[in-house]
Parts: sequence; structure tokens; C-alpha cells
Amino acid sequence: MKPPKGEKKEEKPRPIDDILQSNIWDVDYEPHIKVDYEKCVTCELKPCVRLCPAGCYTLLDDKILFSYEGCLECGTCRIICPRDAITWNYPVSGKGIYFRFS
Ligand code: SF4
Repeated sequence: MKPPKGEKKEEKPRPIDDILQSNIWDVDYEPHIKVDYEKCVTCELKPCVRLCPAGCYTLLDDKILFSYEGCLECGTCRIICPRDAITWNYPVSGKGIYFRFS
């Protein structure tokens, strides 16, 4: 149904998964982020699991699993890791995410 004249149709925000899928990744063979999993063992909070917007960190039986392929290069994990377990670099030139705004 069309909105009455003069009223704007309220648009629903797109789901985050939908927005992320419009990006393109050219993934390098070498990970640009490396995780020292031994340091993760002593970390109680594991904030990377909750705060990585791309869901690159997951928990499996209390152990961290990391996959760099869908990384958004936001740098959050580098800042929030309380154990300094993350070695973070940008991907080499030409690799990584290509943001597409649609
Ligand atoms: Fe996740 Fe951002 Fe870290 Fe990439 S840089 S792994 S998107 S928190």
C-alpha cells in the first residue's frame, strides 16, 4: 500500500548479514592477523568472540577458533584483546575486503 501523499515510506534497516554479503573479498593465502592461542587459554572474557563484527572468532569447547577470510579490517580485535594475543596487519596491497555500498 502506498503511503499517503506527502508522507515518506519508512524503510526498514537491512540486516547486517545482508549488508556484509554485498562486499567482496580477495583473500590472501597468508593470514593478515595471527592469534597466539596459548594466550587465549588464560583469557576469561574472550571479548573478540562477542565484538568482532564479522564473527571471525568463535568458541569451540572454550577454545578460540579464528578465521581471517571474512575480516572487515576494522581493528577491533587488535584494540580489545586483553592478553595482547593478536598480531595485526592489513592484508598485502590488493588483498582483503572491497567495501561495496549499495
Ligand atoms: Fe573481526 Fe575487525 Fe578483527 Fe577483522 S579486524 S577479525 S573484522 S574484529
